[in-house]
Amino acid sequence: MTLDEAAALDAADPLAPCRTRFQLPPGLIYLDGNSLGALPSATAGHLADVVTRQWGGDLIGSWNKHGWIDAPVRIAAKIAPLIGARENEVILADSTSICLFKALSAAIAANPSRSTILVQADDFPTDHYVAQGLVHLLPRLRLRTVAPNCIAESVDEDTAVILLSQVDYRSSARHDMRPINQAAQRKGALTLWDLSHSAGAIAVDCGGDECDLAVGCGYKYLNGGPGAPAFVFAAERLHAQLHSPLPGWMGHDEPFSFLADFSPARGMSQFLTGTPSILALAALESGIDTFSGVSMGAIEVKSRRLSQLFVELVEEQCSGQDLRLVSPREPERRGSHVSFAHDEGFAIMQALIARQVVGDYRAPDVIRFGFAPLYNSFEDIVTAATILAEILQRREWDQPRFRERARVT
Ligand SMILES: *Cc1c(COP(=O)(O)O)cnc(C)c1O
Repeated sequence: MTLDEAAALDAADPLAPCRTRFQLPPGLIYLDGNSLGALPSATAGHLADVVTRQWGGDLIGSWNKHGWIDAPVRIAAKIAPLIGARENEVILADSTSICLFKALSAAIAANPSRSTILVQADDFPTDHYVAQGLVHLLPRLRLRTVAPNCIAESVDEDTAVILLSQVDYRSSARHDMRPINQAAQRKGALTLWDLSHSAGAIAVDCGGDECDLAVGCGYKYLNGGPGAPAFVFAAERLHAQLHSPLPGWMGHDEPFSFLADFSPARGMSQFLTGTPSILALAALESGIDTFSGVSMGAIEVKSRRLSQLFVELVEEQCSGQDLRLVSPREPERRGSHVSFAHDEGFAIMQALIARQVVGDYRAPDVIRFGFAPLYNSFEDIVTAATILAEILQRREWDQPRFRERARVT
């Protein structure tokens, strides 16, 4: 495909105008929105308003006057339609890891006669670390790790909860959630989905697919800014059975009665612990607002077209270069990123970044390219594939400067 052909696809793309909702450096091809979403154009102004007018001008009164106290619930309600949830089934809090701890503990406590946490091999490390930490805290629990393709048949009478990423952070392989939720239900287990690489990238239907619990990340496809608060979802039918393992005054039914004993707020608010980070929530709100008026169905359609075009161009232009597709070949079996393995993956990604094509590298040998349908274009795809092919053909990556590793890779 030529750049002109790609430009024609962009001209006909109904989501193309959404690119102006973001502030991207000119000339940069940003294919890493799955690690850190791009800066929305509205964020700086909105944050300046919250800082200067609200915090600076109205000070403590802002908790009521500007509704700060309701922000974790109010902004979470904007995520609900993106993941097929009801507004009262989502809350914003903490980081994904802490939300995982809260949701996993609550699921285990709701299923007290069982002791197994089922996880999939090679899932995102923090998910495993949180589960390991919980087993350490409650030695009656055990962790069982199975291959991603045999989750449903591995659920048994001792399974309390299945903890899984829907879209694998490395390979992009995607689970169909409904059959796993139904297998869990049949055996009396609960499911806890990590939607970090799904929310804002593909059409997720927590309600229709009968998910029990889920968490997800605010700073990837939701564009909430570095370290943005995360979200927790719990199906309404479970609310009465779930209890937060980290009660705090913000999760109390009446925080300002200053009562001696904890009495949980109804619904998802009990999953709050301490005072919410209002500045971080303000940035996240601008991030979520970049989805306004756009259906997740349309986003997923474009995501598949972008990722499929990239796979085809890379395989065509880079054949014979030892680059191996590690993502499923069928777009409906992937999330919104595509990964290739190469022994020199790290250096290749550094060479790409030096040429203004930003993806990322995941040890031991994977280069990842994330496609954010709100701001990535078909031209981005064609240019990125061409530059990757040039780097491989000319061995541009083979330089000492591309082997230096910083703390964050
Ligand atoms: C990015 C990511 C997280 C992030 O966790 P934080 O606690 O927000 O740093 C968690 N799980 C998965 C699967 C992720 O991809």
